[in-house]
Amino acid sequence: MKHEVPELPYAESALEPHISAETLRYHHGKHHAKYVSNLNELLLGTELELRPLEEIIQKASNTLFNNAAQAWNHAFYWKCLSPNGGGEPDGPLAAVIVQQFGSFDQFKQQFTEVASSLFGSGWTWLVKDAEGNMSIQQTKNADTPLRHAQTPLLTCDVWEHAYYIDYRNARPEYIQSFWKIINWDFVAQQYQG
Ligand code: MN
Repeated sequence: MKHEVPELPYAESALEPHISAETLRYHHGKHHAKYVSNLNELLLGTELELRPLEEIIQKASNTLFNNAAQAWNHAFYWKCLSPNGGGEPDGPLAAVIVQQFGSFDQFKQQFTEVASSLFGSGWTWLVKDAEGNMSIQQTKNADTPLRHAQTPLLTCDVWEHAYYIDYRNARPEYIQSFWKIINWDFVAQQYQG
């Protein structure tokens, strides 16, 4: 069983002007693809070779973990974005965000601060724990909430490769654009699932 790079759920140019087709061509077509091909190579002949990606993430370490987690994190990130996204969530997800963070704007501000302040490469997440409590988490490099018994609801990739073509070093500008393309329907599905 070879792991495959999932197709983008939209055209490469669909997120413009917020994220360019060139960024997606490299980020999805080169970076994500490389994590998946590394993963397949590293798995050859190991006891995890035929196991699902989520199980590999729980059991692997070092380079195998890094490539497996990056394969999963990127597949999740693409689904968090949509050309029809942005705005604010509604329904039960909106209510619980208000309950846990005070207001949508306070949630947005906290998430933005966490994403902006992550030193080096990593990810910013909205997660829920086993009790249903939400929190905003930073993970470094390839690390993923799946390894910390948390359910990811939303993620922002803050590795430089996510924004350097479009925004150069201006990560805060990329994060502002990220808010305009969040697929809240997908986030709500993760919350309810
Ligand atoms: Mn990335």
